[in-house]
Formats: sequence, structure tokens, C-alpha cells
Amino acid sequence: MGLDPVPNASSRQVQLADDRRPGAASAGSARERRRAFEALSEEIRRCTRCPLSASRTQAVVYRGSFAPRIVFVGEAPGAEEDRQGVPFVGRSGKLLDRAVASLGPALGEYGVLNLLKCRPPGNRFDPSAARTCRPYLERQLALLRPRALVPLGARALAALDPTAAPILSVAGAPRRAAVGWLFPLIHPAAALRSRRRKERWEHDVRALESWLGSSRLEIL
Ligand code: SF4
Repeated sequence: MGLDPVPNASSRQVQLADDRRPGAASAGSARERRRAFEALSEEIRRCTRCPLSASRTQAVVYRGSFAPRIVFVGEAPGAEEDRQGVPFVGRSGKLLDRAVASLGPALGEYGVLNLLKCRPPGNRFDPSAARTCRPYLERQLALLRPRALVPLGARALAALDPTAAPILSVAGAPRRAAVGWLFPLIHPAAALRSRRRKERWEHDVRALESWLGSSRLEIL
């Protein structure tokens, strides 16, 4: 993955799935990792490394478990997220939360974050800011150590697996990428735009439930 040189980012931190393999060296106790995650969250909230820091209300870091089985990865905060400082709390977030509730016990503990931690003006995704922000994502995931990631939409998928085919071709099925196991879904905002996409979203969420409910995820 192409990385901008930001302190504390390292290529080792990208290898999440490898860290989770049986027999892999421990990356610290759960308590140590939680403490490190909280320190990282503070660092992100104070960050001024890209121009989005000037227009944000606040950085939007993470919501969910500190020991998630699955992490949903979105694109960037919207207006409501920027206001509340919490990822996926607008209309898209409500749809995601309904999906999460419908997954029930198959999901287990989970987390939600974005590629970009600060809202781009007009919700226009900023690739340059995303490159600058990328090491934060990698450090977050290295500390959270999920079993699999669920990229939400084309940009999250492209960031996590640049070799992937277009999102509509690959959503709804697990895939192995360099960062580990992915289960892409279309972005919830797209699902809100048309009935056809909503049906696709619901179909793919059911496929995710089947995958999560299978024992395969536990033996990766
Ligand atoms: S988007 Fe990322 S790199 Fe830019 S100011 Fe926010 S936290 Fe820092």
C-alpha cells in the first residue's frame, strides 16, 4: 500500500490478518491496546496534518467495541457525524444500524470507522487528504485487530483492496486481500437512493450474515 510518511505508521501494522493467526506473536494485552487506541484517538482529534482540519467541527474517530470481530469501514464523515463526532449517525448510519441489528448474534462485537477522519467540505471526497489520513486507519486496525473488514462502498473497497473489481461486482461475497479478509457491501447511502440498490443491500447483508455465522471466520 502507498503510505505517506506519518510518524508511527509502519507496514507491519497493515498485516492484520497475519497478527490474528494462531501462534502469532501477541501485540500487547487487551488493556494495553485499548490504552494505545485511546491515545491514538486523542492524537487524531488534535490532528492538523491536512487542510480538512480547518473546516471540520471535530474529527470523527470510531464507535464500537475495542475487541471487534468485524470493523465496518466507511468513506468520510457527513454533516451529522461532523456535528456529533461519531461515525455513521446520519441516515446512512441508521440503515447500517438496522443491518447490524438484523445480523444478531452472528455479528458479535463490531466497530465502525471511516477512511477520512474529518468531513470534507460539501462531502466531496478528498483523495489527497485520504492519503495523509491513511496511517491513522492502519494504526486503528492494527490495535483493534478485527477478523475481517466490511468496506462500505467503492472508495472504502478501493482503499482496502486496490485490485478489486467494481463494488457492484464484488459486494456480498468474502474476498481475501493483502490487508486480510474483506466482505464488501455497497454504501448505505447508495441503498437509500433507489429501491433496486436497497434490495441489493438487503440481499448482501443476508449473505454477510451467512458468512459470519459459518465457522470459517473463526479458523482464518
Ligand atoms: S482528515 Fe485525517 S489527516 Fe486530515 S486533519 Fe483530519 S485526522 Fe488529520
